[in-house]
Amino acid sequence: MRKIAFGYSTRCNIRCEHCVAADAVPDNSKMTLAGAKEIITGMAAAKVEGISFTAGEPLIYLDDICELIGLCRQYDIYTRVVTNAFWAKTPPLADIVVRRLLQSGLSQMRISCSRWHQQHIARENILQAAESCRRNGLEYFISFVTDFSKADDVVEAWLRTHHLKFFPEPVIFSGRAAAFDRTPIRTDYQANCCSMNPYLAPNLDMFACCDAGSHFMRTDFFLLGNLKNTGIDTLFRKSEENRLYNHIRNLGITAIASFAGFKAREIIQYRKCELCEKLFNSPRMLDRLQREAETGLTNWCR
Ligand code: SF4
Ligand code: SF4
Repeated sequence: MRKIAFGYSTRCNIRCEHCVAADAVPDNSKMTLAGAKEIITGMAAAKVEGISFTAGEPLIYLDDICELIGLCRQYDIYTRVVTNAFWAKTPPLADIVVRRLLQSGLSQMRISCSRWHQQHIARENILQAAESCRRNGLEYFISFVTDFSKADDVVEAWLRTHHLKFFPEPVIFSGRAAAFDRTPIRTDYQANCCSMNPYLAPNLDMFACCDAGSHFMRTDFFLLGNLKNTGIDTLFRKSEENRLYNHIRNLGITAIASFAGFKAREIIQYRKCELCEKLFNSPRMLDRLQREAETGLTNWCR
């Protein structure tokens, strides 16, 4: 299934310390509405079945996003909006926005919550946004961004107390969070396979990865091209057919690192995206892995 994180604009109304979206592209870049509609029409023709409106805070442009969601509905494309819930200051205000999105055809809302977001947005907004979704029949979930430190226990306890549907999501130490201290991780030797959602930035650069990968600027490993000069179907095919990307999806980052000579003891000290960066944001390592993609790596399986 083809799906994509759609960066209509990188503008945000707050400035979270951990924001991964920051720094890769200028803070305030934005597509034109007409341009975004044309792209969505092209995506429908390329059989894209899911679009997640993300990047900065999409609902700053509520009217535009509603129009784009409406267009997706015409093409039967599943839609999600990722939001910090700044608009849910009271239950009636939350209902106004949720109902508009629902009437436009929104399929799902993903509400971001973390100790960093909540330095700027009242926790009640999260609750009011979620309750409005429940009341109005819009599917939602809360993305609980965490570094798995004790400091987040209080956030998790609050989410549980209010019976909110939430999923923990690890902080990605990229963008602004690149400067964060890393808390030690304790985990088994995980495969670290990654489904790799593509990401379209407002300047129409398309990346094979919607998270840290768009920051791998030493190699631009995940940069697929720009929609101004390459068709959407071609860019998707590049993402789907690249041998190394498929090893990331199927073999997993851990096995690739092991193949590359990393000790098992060293591998477990890295988070998935950090290990990915070690492998694919180093020109020398990337060159080696590209040469081995069809041969050694393909045979590196149990
Ligand atoms: S994490 Fe989300 S809400 Fe926070 S600054 Fe980044 S885009 Fe805005
Ligand atoms: S592991 Fe690599 S491909 Fe997956 S999200 Fe992280 S940076 Fe992107």
